[in-house]
Amino acid sequence: MSTWVIGRPSGPAWQGAPEVSVDQLVPDGKRLLVVAPHPADEILGCGALLYLARRAGRDVCVLLATDASTRFIDTCAALGELGLGPQSLAVLELPDGSLDRWQAEFSRAVVLTMRPNDVVVMPWREDGHADHEVVAQAVLDALQVLPVPYLEVPIVGLRSARSNSETLPWSRAVRLPVEAVARARKEAAARCFTSAAGCAADWLEYDDEVFFH
Ligand SMILES: [Zn+2]
Repeated sequence: MSTWVIGRPSGPAWQGAPEVSVDQLVPDGKRLLVVAPHPADEILGCGALLYLARRAGRDVCVLLATDASTRFIDTCAALGELGLGPQSLAVLELPDGSLDRWQAEFSRAVVLTMRPNDVVVMPWREDGHADHEVVAQAVLDALQVLPVPYLEVPIVGLRSARSNSETLPWSRAVRLPVEAVARARKEAAARCFTSAAGCAADWLEYDDEVFFH
């Protein structure tokens, strides 16, 4: 049972989302592929899922679209907090803030990274940040080539749900409860990003990770 405090998305929209386990999201034999626009998005959006999937013995891959050099080190450290080595990370050094010019190239890179047994996690297609929406569309394009199960994760969108939760497609939502150990690992991972620390606290207080299917 989740507890709720003022400031979180609350009410039937969130609480009514079905609870799912890591085994349901990433079944045995599947690999988890998380496609993230910027370093730290993968932690804030689904750090607990990354940790729990690895703990359950799943192969995990994180594909980053952009890399502002120092944050590569941060990302490796953060994934280490989740039990993932650098071999779990693939980085395309596309320019931050102008991914729209690289959508086709990025989509091809996603196809080349994907495996038939993947479950893909991408930003919500209406996340409210241009790079996030470009990445989502690039993944949707890649899924036309190699159709595999996928989930969308609200990152910026979850934050804006504080003031207007009606904008999120709750009818498509499921929630993964974040147990204490996973929360601690996610928080430790988020602390690896010095430049993102200020905003990270906003995301880390949630009791669940939310995905749209
Ligand atoms: Zn981002």
